[in-house]
Amino acid sequence: MASSLTDVTYNYRRICENIARAAESTGRTADDIIFLAATKTVEAPVINHAISLGLRYIGENRVQELLSKYDAYDLEHASLQFIGHLQTNKVRQIVGKVDLIQSVDSEKLAREISRCSEKRGITTDILLEVNIGREANKSGVMPELLPELLDQVKDLPAVKVRGLMAIPPICENAQENCKYFDNMRNLFLDIKGKNIDNIAMDILSMGMSDDYEEAIRCGANMIRVGSALFGKRYYPA
Ligand SMILES: *Cc1c(COP(=O)(O)O)cnc(C)c1O
Repeated sequence: MASSLTDVTYNYRRICENIARAAESTGRTADDIIFLAATKTVEAPVINHAISLGLRYIGENRVQELLSKYDAYDLEHASLQFIGHLQTNKVRQIVGKVDLIQSVDSEKLAREISRCSEKRGITTDILLEVNIGREANKSGVMPELLPELLDQVKDLPAVKVRGLMAIPPICENAQENCKYFDNMRNLFLDIKGKNIDNIAMDILSMGMSDDYEEAIRCGANMIRVGSALFGKRYYPA
């Protein structure tokens, strides 16, 4: 069901409480966790309502949809990010409009983001997306190829790697989920410990509506929540 603004208000507050509780269980606070709302299929007035409640990060996953809503977002109060699969030929349409591209999984894509950013005289922050469940037909770089990708992108002039992102397989239980989240945290800490030039490793983006508390307990410092905030999505047939 699509939600009313009252539902969104209620959901927003409840999620913030859950974030705080999960963060505190790991010796952190809600301020240490970036709560990004995944806004696909959600109309701008509803997104802006969430921003009026205090939401500070929003993420779209389709270029066309982002562009169609772009002028309507309240971007004075929120940061817009790209979280979906990105085709190289669409990069130039979003560079300069988004603060972070979370879904970079190839040198070719990173190179194009750098090229378009350089042209505009800016640097674009990116996350590298990892296919942590090694699933066929899923985007993200395979974990064992991550070092190679890091090496390929670290010297690009106009992108800055800020961390890692993952969409783990749908799991039957929390324990199984944690295995993927733990693997991500280990990769993240491992790379961070290497102190590679131009690689920041300060953002670990994982956890969605059904598992964001679990993800936080496993070390995520950015979660991407859609349906728990806005209600279940209707996809056009
Ligand atoms: C839709 C989406 C989410 C949020 O999914 P929910 O299960 O609705 O919370 C998170 N990340 C990405 C990349 C998405 O496309």
